[in-house]
Amino acid sequence: MTEWNKLIPKPRSKFLRVKCLKCGNEQLLYSNPVNKVICNVCNETLAEPTGGRAKIKGEILTAFE
Ligand SMILES: [Zn+2]
Repeated sequence: MTEWNKLIPKPRSKFLRVKCLKCGNEQLLYSNPVNKVICNVCNETLAEPTGGRAKIKGEILTAFE
């Protein structure tokens, strides 16, 4: 293992219940998605991958470990 791996802690993955700000739909999503997550109802972007923890666009209601 390289120094790199020591410096960057492993991102703790979670499931998040996120509410779409546009239509109010509540949806479960992974906190570290590989792909963009869109709302099932209105196709609004709910989360964007950043290489680590996602940038959440909606309102986070609950987080599950
Ligand atoms: Zn929506």
